[in-house]
Amino acid sequence: MTEIEFYKLKIFEKKSVIELRKQNANMTELINSWYCSEKYNAIQKFKSFIQAKFNQIKTMENISVELSNDEIYELFEWYEKQPKTCYYCNLPESELENLHSMNGHINKRYPKRGKSLELDRKISSLPYTEFDNLVLACYWCNNAKTDTFTEKEFQKIGHEFQKIWQNRLNKILE
Ligand SMILES: [Zn+2]
Repeated sequence: MTEIEFYKLKIFEKKSVIELRKQNANMTELINSWYCSEKYNAIQKFKSFIQAKFNQIKTMENISVELSNDEIYELFEWYEKQPKTCYYCNLPESELENLHSMNGHINKRYPKRGKSLELDRKISSLPYTEFDNLVLACYWCNNAKTDTFTEKEFQKIGHEFQKIWQNRLNKILE
């Protein structure tokens, strides 16, 4: 069993650690070190993050995103490499909480919407399983871009958003 196999079995297939230790008798020490690693926690956190996003996409866009466990892991690796800023307006994820509290609840059904970056498809006709087509975007850009604007068109709009956020965030600091 490799480290990645362990994460997939434990986190995605919900195998118990006791069972995995039994099946891999000579690997107890390794399993213990993987079980409490930062990576383990990051994958766990990502799994909840992505499930919430997919539930939201299902309700809001009526699209069912079905990913295999291997694909979710692939998406995790993709996510780890992404800068945690909005692809269009450059807003850092760390500022979203500030703007969210300033703007109030965005969506009654999703009171937390807006607090973290969302998944946007650059070309919205492609499925969510085309990872190369995905970017992280703030709620406001994602919501405004819809299926209407192309990536290039929306980058210009995002640039204007960026100026507005900068102004508002400067005001908080004053
Ligand atoms: Zn944005």
